[in-house]
Amino acid sequence: MIPIKAELLHTASWQREMARAVTDPRELMRRLELPDSAVDRMANLDFPLRVPESFIARMEPGNPRDPLLLQVLPHYQETRLVPGYHQDPVGDQASMAVPGVIHKYRGRVLLIAAASCALHCRYCFRRHFPYAEANPKSEQWRGALDYIAGDSTVNEVILSGGDPLLLADSRLSMLIGRLEAIPHLRRVRIHTRLPVVLPSRVNKTLLRWLGKGRLQVVMVIHTNHPNELDETVHVALQKIATAGVTLLNQSVLLKGVNDRVETLNELSEILFSAGVLPYYLHLLDKVQGAAHFEVSEERALSLVEVMRNSLSGYLVPRLVRERQGAPAKQPISGMLRRTDEIRLDI
Ligand SMILES: *Cc1c(COP(=O)(O)O)cnc(C)c1O
Ligand code: SF4
Repeated sequence: MIPIKAELLHTASWQREMARAVTDPRELMRRLELPDSAVDRMANLDFPLRVPESFIARMEPGNPRDPLLLQVLPHYQETRLVPGYHQDPVGDQASMAVPGVIHKYRGRVLLIAAASCALHCRYCFRRHFPYAEANPKSEQWRGALDYIAGDSTVNEVILSGGDPLLLADSRLSMLIGRLEAIPHLRRVRIHTRLPVVLPSRVNKTLLRWLGKGRLQVVMVIHTNHPNELDETVHVALQKIATAGVTLLNQSVLLKGVNDRVETLNELSEILFSAGVLPYYLHLLDKVQGAAHFEVSEERALSLVEVMRNSLSGYLVPRLVRERQGAPAKQPISGMLRRTDEIRLDI
Protein backbone atom coordinates (compact mmCIF):
# COMPACT_ATOMS: atom_id res chain seq x y z
CA MET A 1 0.00 0.00 0.00
CA ILE A 2 1.27 3.48 -0.84
CA PRO A 3 1.24 5.62 2.29
CA ILE A 4 -0.68 8.89 1.97
CA LYS A 5 1.73 11.74 2.31
CA ALA A 6 0.99 14.40 4.88
CA GLU A 7 1.32 17.20 2.31
CA LEU A 8 -1.31 15.63 0.07
CA LEU A 9 -3.76 15.77 2.93
CA HIS A 10 -2.69 19.34 3.51
CA THR A 11 -3.15 20.32 -0.13
CA ALA A 12 -6.58 18.82 -0.03
CA SER A 13 -7.45 21.04 2.92
CA TRP A 14 -7.31 24.33 0.96
CA GLN A 15 -9.00 22.66 -1.95
CA ARG A 16 -11.76 21.46 0.33
CA GLU A 17 -12.08 24.97 1.71
CA MET A 18 -12.40 26.22 -1.87
CA ALA A 19 -15.07 23.68 -2.65
CA ARG A 20 -17.05 24.83 0.38
CA ALA A 21 -16.99 28.51 -0.68
CA VAL A 22 -20.34 30.23 -0.20
CA THR A 23 -22.23 30.86 -3.45
CA ASP A 24 -25.74 31.49 -2.14
CA PRO A 25 -26.29 35.13 -1.12
CA ARG A 26 -28.88 34.11 1.50
CA GLU A 27 -26.40 31.76 3.09
CA LEU A 28 -23.93 34.63 3.28
CA MET A 29 -26.58 36.81 4.96
CA ARG A 30 -27.22 34.11 7.54
CA ARG A 31 -23.52 33.90 8.37
CA LEU A 32 -23.38 37.65 8.81
CA GLU A 33 -26.58 37.88 10.83
CA LEU A 34 -28.12 40.09 8.18
CA PRO A 35 -31.75 39.84 7.06
CA ASP A 36 -32.63 38.06 3.83
CA SER A 37 -33.95 41.40 2.62
CA ALA A 38 -30.32 42.55 2.31
CA VAL A 39 -30.01 40.19 -0.66
CA ASP A 40 -30.70 41.94 -3.91
CA ARG A 41 -33.29 39.93 -5.79
CA MET A 42 -32.65 41.94 -8.94
CA ALA A 43 -28.95 41.05 -9.03
CA ASN A 44 -27.74 39.26 -12.13
CA LEU A 45 -25.96 36.08 -11.18
CA ASP A 46 -24.13 35.45 -14.49
CA PHE A 47 -21.02 36.19 -12.47
CA PRO A 48 -22.13 34.47 -9.28
CA LEU A 49 -21.30 35.13 -5.68
CA ARG A 50 -18.25 33.22 -4.54
CA VAL A 51 -16.53 33.73 -1.20
CA PRO A 52 -14.63 31.28 1.01
CA GLU A 53 -15.28 30.89 4.70
CA SER A 54 -11.96 32.39 5.78
CA PHE A 55 -12.80 35.68 4.01
CA ILE A 56 -16.30 35.78 5.48
CA ALA A 57 -14.71 35.42 8.91
CA ARG A 58 -13.12 38.86 8.43
CA MET A 59 -16.45 40.58 7.75
CA GLU A 60 -18.29 42.36 10.53
CA PRO A 61 -21.56 40.60 11.42
CA GLY A 62 -24.61 42.82 11.14
CA ASN A 63 -22.93 45.42 8.93
CA PRO A 64 -24.47 45.61 5.45
CA ARG A 65 -21.81 48.20 4.42
CA ASP A 66 -18.87 46.05 5.48
CA PRO A 67 -16.02 46.85 3.05
CA LEU A 68 -15.26 43.18 2.42
CA LEU A 69 -18.91 42.30 1.91
CA LEU A 70 -19.34 45.12 -0.62
CA GLN A 71 -16.52 43.63 -2.70
CA VAL A 72 -18.32 40.30 -3.12
CA LEU A 73 -22.10 40.74 -2.85
CA PRO A 74 -23.95 40.93 -6.21
CA HIS A 75 -26.02 44.08 -6.60
CA TYR A 76 -28.72 45.09 -9.06
CA GLN A 77 -26.63 48.10 -10.09
CA GLU A 78 -24.37 45.65 -11.92
CA THR A 79 -27.13 45.13 -14.47
CA ARG A 80 -27.17 48.80 -15.47
CA LEU A 81 -25.66 49.55 -18.88
CA VAL A 82 -23.55 52.64 -18.38
CA PRO A 83 -22.03 54.48 -21.37
CA GLY A 84 -18.28 54.07 -21.48
CA TYR A 85 -18.35 50.73 -19.66
CA HIS A 86 -17.46 47.68 -21.76
CA GLN A 87 -17.14 43.92 -21.60
CA ASP A 88 -13.41 44.04 -22.39
CA PRO A 89 -12.41 47.41 -20.93
CA VAL A 90 -8.65 47.12 -21.41
CA GLY A 91 -8.41 45.41 -24.80
CA ASP A 92 -7.11 42.10 -23.47
CA GLN A 93 -8.58 40.15 -26.33
CA ALA A 94 -6.96 42.31 -29.01
CA SER A 95 -3.58 41.81 -27.32
CA MET A 96 -3.73 38.02 -27.19
CA ALA A 97 -0.57 36.95 -29.01
CA VAL A 98 -1.43 33.25 -28.87
CA PRO A 99 -4.22 31.66 -26.80
CA GLY A 100 -3.51 32.41 -23.16
CA VAL A 101 -0.72 34.96 -23.72
CA ILE A 102 -1.46 38.69 -23.47
CA HIS A 103 1.47 40.68 -24.75
CA LYS A 104 0.95 44.40 -24.31
CA TYR A 105 4.13 45.78 -22.81
CA ARG A 106 7.77 45.46 -23.70
CA GLY A 107 9.77 42.89 -21.75
CA ARG A 108 6.89 41.10 -20.07
CA VAL A 109 3.99 38.93 -21.08
CA LEU A 110 0.97 37.85 -19.13
CA LEU A 111 -0.01 34.19 -19.16
CA ILE A 112 -3.58 33.24 -18.31
CA ALA A 113 -2.61 30.28 -16.16
CA ALA A 114 -5.97 29.54 -14.52
CA ALA A 115 -9.57 30.20 -15.43
CA SER A 116 -11.15 30.85 -12.05
CA CYS A 117 -10.73 32.71 -8.78
CA ALA A 118 -11.35 31.79 -5.16
CA LEU A 119 -13.36 34.96 -4.69
CA HIS A 120 -15.46 36.83 -7.22
CA CYS A 121 -14.70 40.53 -6.96
CA ARG A 122 -17.71 42.43 -8.23
CA TYR A 123 -15.51 45.06 -9.94
CA CYS A 124 -13.37 42.44 -11.73
CA PHE A 125 -12.11 43.73 -15.08
CA ARG A 126 -12.07 40.17 -16.40
CA ARG A 127 -15.60 39.30 -15.25
CA HIS A 128 -16.67 38.84 -18.87
CA PHE A 129 -13.40 37.28 -20.04
CA PRO A 130 -13.91 34.31 -22.37
CA TYR A 131 -11.64 31.93 -20.48
CA ALA A 132 -12.72 29.06 -22.70
CA GLU A 133 -10.98 30.74 -25.66
CA ALA A 134 -7.83 31.64 -23.76
CA ASN A 135 -7.75 28.13 -22.60
CA PRO A 136 -5.23 27.65 -19.85
CA LYS A 137 -5.08 23.87 -20.12
CA SER A 138 -1.63 22.32 -19.99
CA GLU A 139 -1.68 21.18 -23.61
CA GLN A 140 -2.01 24.78 -24.63
CA TRP A 141 0.89 25.88 -22.49
CA ARG A 142 3.03 24.48 -25.28
CA GLY A 143 1.89 27.22 -27.65
CA ALA A 144 2.38 29.85 -24.94
CA LEU A 145 5.83 28.54 -24.02
CA ASP A 146 6.87 28.43 -27.69
CA TYR A 147 5.77 32.03 -28.08
CA ILE A 148 7.77 33.14 -25.03
CA ALA A 149 10.81 31.11 -26.07
CA GLY A 150 10.65 32.72 -29.51
CA ASP A 151 10.79 36.32 -28.28
CA SER A 152 14.10 37.16 -26.62
CA THR A 153 12.88 40.64 -25.65
CA VAL A 154 10.67 39.02 -22.99
CA ASN A 155 12.45 38.67 -19.65
CA GLU A 156 9.50 38.32 -17.29
CA VAL A 157 6.42 36.15 -17.38
CA ILE A 158 3.40 37.13 -15.33
CA LEU A 159 1.16 34.27 -14.27
CA SER A 160 -2.35 35.60 -13.99
CA GLY A 161 -5.85 34.40 -14.57
CA GLY A 162 -8.07 33.75 -12.85
CA ASP A 163 -5.81 32.96 -9.98
CA PRO A 164 -2.68 30.94 -10.80
CA LEU A 165 -2.37 29.70 -7.21
CA LEU A 166 -5.57 27.73 -7.74
CA LEU A 167 -3.47 25.34 -9.82
CA ALA A 168 -2.19 22.31 -7.98
CA ASP A 169 1.44 22.63 -6.89
CA SER A 170 2.49 19.88 -9.29
CA ARG A 171 1.12 21.75 -12.31
CA LEU A 172 2.33 25.14 -11.20
CA SER A 173 5.84 24.00 -10.39
CA MET A 174 5.95 22.14 -13.69
CA LEU A 175 4.94 25.30 -15.56
CA ILE A 176 7.58 27.34 -13.76
CA GLY A 177 10.13 24.60 -14.41
CA ARG A 178 9.44 24.95 -18.11
CA LEU A 179 9.81 28.70 -17.92
CA GLU A 180 13.16 28.24 -16.16
CA ALA A 181 14.42 26.43 -19.25
CA ILE A 182 13.92 29.55 -21.40
CA PRO A 183 17.31 31.28 -21.16
CA HIS A 184 16.22 34.90 -21.73
CA LEU A 185 13.77 34.87 -18.81
CA ARG A 186 14.88 36.47 -15.55
CA ARG A 187 11.74 36.63 -13.47
CA VAL A 188 8.39 35.06 -12.95
CA ARG A 189 5.67 37.15 -11.41
CA ILE A 190 2.58 35.67 -9.80
CA HIS A 191 -0.54 37.84 -9.65
CA THR A 192 -2.71 36.28 -6.96
CA ARG A 193 -5.36 37.07 -4.38
CA LEU A 194 -5.07 33.67 -2.70
CA PRO A 195 -2.63 34.38 0.16
CA VAL A 196 -5.21 36.93 1.30
CA VAL A 197 -8.46 35.17 0.42
CA LEU A 198 -7.37 31.65 1.38
CA PRO A 199 -4.19 31.81 3.47
CA SER A 200 -4.24 28.03 3.93
CA ARG A 201 -3.06 27.87 0.29
CA VAL A 202 0.37 28.88 1.58
CA ASN A 203 1.24 25.41 2.80
CA LYS A 204 4.37 23.29 3.02
CA THR A 205 3.94 21.93 -0.48
CA LEU A 206 3.92 25.41 -1.98
CA LEU A 207 6.84 26.57 0.13
CA ARG A 208 8.87 23.54 -0.92
CA TRP A 209 9.23 24.80 -4.51
CA LEU A 210 8.40 28.53 -4.35
CA GLY A 211 11.49 30.69 -4.82
CA LYS A 212 13.82 27.71 -5.15
CA GLY A 213 14.46 27.86 -8.88
CA ARG A 214 16.65 29.93 -11.20
CA LEU A 215 14.08 32.66 -11.82
CA GLN A 216 13.53 35.44 -9.30
CA VAL A 217 9.97 35.37 -8.05
CA VAL A 218 7.79 38.42 -7.53
CA MET A 219 4.34 37.99 -6.06
CA VAL A 220 1.78 40.72 -6.52
CA ILE A 221 -1.12 40.22 -4.13
CA HIS A 222 -4.40 42.09 -4.31
CA THR A 223 -5.94 43.67 -1.23
CA ASN A 224 -8.17 46.71 -1.02
CA HIS A 225 -8.92 47.16 2.65
CA PRO A 226 -6.93 46.69 5.88
CA ASN A 227 -9.61 44.35 7.29
CA GLU A 228 -8.54 41.78 4.69
CA LEU A 229 -5.22 41.36 6.46
CA ASP A 230 -5.73 39.39 9.64
CA GLU A 231 -3.19 37.37 11.61
CA THR A 232 -3.46 34.24 9.42
CA VAL A 233 -2.76 36.32 6.31
CA HIS A 234 0.21 37.97 8.04
CA VAL A 235 1.71 34.58 8.80
CA ALA A 236 1.16 33.35 5.23
CA LEU A 237 2.78 36.46 3.77
CA GLN A 238 5.75 36.22 6.07
CA LYS A 239 6.34 32.63 4.95
CA ILE A 240 6.28 33.73 1.33
CA ALA A 241 8.74 36.54 2.04
CA THR A 242 11.01 34.12 3.88
CA ALA A 243 11.07 31.96 0.74
CA GLY A 244 12.88 34.86 -0.96
CA VAL A 245 9.90 36.19 -2.87
CA THR A 246 9.47 39.94 -3.38
CA LEU A 247 5.96 40.86 -2.28
CA LEU A 248 3.99 43.76 -3.76
CA ASN A 249 0.34 44.74 -3.48
CA GLN A 250 -2.12 46.19 -5.94
CA SER A 251 -5.45 47.70 -4.98
CA VAL A 252 -8.37 49.04 -6.90
CA LEU A 253 -9.82 52.31 -5.67
CA LEU A 254 -13.45 51.49 -4.91
CA LYS A 255 -16.21 53.85 -3.85
CA GLY A 256 -17.60 52.91 -0.45
CA VAL A 257 -14.82 50.37 0.15
CA ASN A 258 -11.48 52.15 0.38
CA ASP A 259 -11.89 55.73 -0.90
CA ARG A 260 -10.77 57.38 2.32
CA VAL A 261 -7.28 58.49 3.25
CA GLU A 262 -7.27 56.82 6.64
CA THR A 263 -8.27 53.48 5.08
CA LEU A 264 -5.59 53.67 2.41
CA ASN A 265 -2.94 54.78 4.88
CA GLU A 266 -3.79 51.94 7.23
CA LEU A 267 -3.70 49.46 4.35
CA SER A 268 -0.18 50.59 3.41
CA GLU A 269 1.01 50.37 7.01
CA ILE A 270 -0.42 46.88 7.56
CA LEU A 271 0.90 45.62 4.24
CA PHE A 272 4.38 46.82 5.06
CA SER A 273 4.29 45.24 8.49
CA ALA A 274 3.59 41.94 6.70
CA GLY A 275 6.54 42.47 4.34
CA VAL A 276 4.53 43.76 1.36
CA LEU A 277 5.21 47.01 -0.52
CA PRO A 278 2.28 48.96 -1.97
CA TYR A 279 2.73 48.92 -5.76
CA TYR A 280 -0.30 50.12 -7.69
CA LEU A 281 -3.53 51.82 -6.77
CA HIS A 282 -5.66 51.32 -9.87
CA LEU A 283 -8.45 53.52 -11.02
CA LEU A 284 -11.37 51.25 -11.77
CA ASP A 285 -11.25 49.61 -15.19
CA LYS A 286 -14.50 50.53 -16.89
CA VAL A 287 -15.99 47.09 -17.03
CA GLN A 288 -19.71 46.68 -17.57
CA GLY A 289 -21.40 46.16 -14.20
CA ALA A 290 -18.91 48.04 -12.03
CA ALA A 291 -19.84 51.69 -12.59
CA HIS A 292 -21.20 52.10 -9.06
CA PHE A 293 -17.66 51.59 -7.69
CA GLU A 294 -16.14 54.45 -9.65
CA VAL A 295 -14.12 57.11 -7.86
CA SER A 296 -13.40 60.15 -10.01
CA GLU A 297 -9.87 60.80 -11.18
CA GLU A 298 -9.89 64.12 -9.36
CA ARG A 299 -10.81 62.58 -6.04
CA ALA A 300 -8.30 59.76 -6.55
CA LEU A 301 -5.54 62.28 -7.14
CA SER A 302 -6.47 64.20 -4.03
CA LEU A 303 -6.50 61.06 -1.90
CA VAL A 304 -3.04 60.07 -3.07
CA GLU A 305 -1.75 63.59 -2.60
CA VAL A 306 -2.88 63.52 1.03
CA MET A 307 -1.31 60.06 1.45
CA ARG A 308 1.98 61.41 0.09
CA ASN A 309 1.90 64.15 2.71
CA SER A 310 1.38 61.75 5.58
CA LEU A 311 3.36 58.58 4.81
CA SER A 312 6.91 57.48 4.08
CA GLY A 313 7.42 57.66 0.33
CA TYR A 314 7.64 53.89 -0.13
CA LEU A 315 4.20 53.44 1.44
CA VAL A 316 2.49 55.50 -1.25
CA PRO A 317 1.25 53.34 -4.15
CA ARG A 318 1.44 54.58 -7.73
CA LEU A 319 -1.94 55.78 -8.91
CA VAL A 320 -2.46 54.35 -12.38
CA ARG A 321 -5.04 53.63 -15.00
CA GLU A 322 -4.87 51.13 -17.79
CA ARG A 323 -5.42 52.74 -21.15
CA GLN A 324 -6.07 50.54 -24.13
CA GLY A 325 -3.16 50.64 -26.57
CA ALA A 326 -0.78 52.46 -24.19
CA PRO A 327 2.76 51.03 -23.75
CA ALA A 328 2.46 50.86 -19.93
CA LYS A 329 0.03 51.50 -17.12
CA GLN A 330 -0.60 55.24 -17.18
CA PRO A 331 0.41 57.23 -14.10
CA ILE A 332 -2.19 59.75 -12.97
CA SER A 333 -0.72 62.98 -11.81
CA GLY A 334 -1.81 66.55 -11.44
CA MET A 335 -1.86 69.50 -9.13
CA LEU A 336 -3.92 69.44 -6.00
CA ARG A 337 -6.50 72.16 -6.01
CA ARG A 338 -7.48 73.95 -2.85
CA THR A 339 -11.12 72.88 -3.17
CA ASP A 340 -10.02 69.23 -3.05
CA GLU A 341 -7.99 69.89 0.03
CA ILE A 342 -11.04 71.26 1.80
CA ARG A 343 -13.31 68.46 0.62
CA LEU A 344 -10.83 65.88 1.88
CA ASP A 345 -10.92 66.97 5.45
CA ILE A 346 -11.77 63.44 6.64
C1 LIG B 1 -0.56 45.21 -15.94
C2 LIG B 1 -0.02 44.33 -16.99
C3 LIG B 1 1.35 43.98 -16.98
C4 LIG B 1 2.29 44.42 -15.91
O1 LIG B 1 2.58 45.76 -15.94
P1 LIG B 1 3.62 46.34 -14.87
O2 LIG B 1 3.51 47.79 -15.04
O3 LIG B 1 4.95 45.77 -15.22
O4 LIG B 1 3.17 45.85 -13.52
C5 LIG B 1 1.83 43.20 -18.01
N1 LIG B 1 1.02 42.76 -19.01
C6 LIG B 1 -0.28 43.07 -19.04
C7 LIG B 1 -1.11 42.57 -20.17
C8 LIG B 1 -0.85 43.85 -18.04
O5 LIG B 1 -2.15 44.13 -18.06
S1 SF4 C 1 -9.05 38.15 -7.93
FE1 SF4 C 1 -8.64 39.47 -9.71
S2 SF4 C 1 -9.18 38.23 -11.52
FE2 SF4 C 1 -10.10 37.23 -9.70
S3 SF4 C 1 -12.19 38.05 -9.54
FE3 SF4 C 1 -10.88 39.35 -8.27
S4 SF4 C 1 -10.24 41.05 -9.60
FE4 SF4 C 1 -11.01 39.37 -10.92
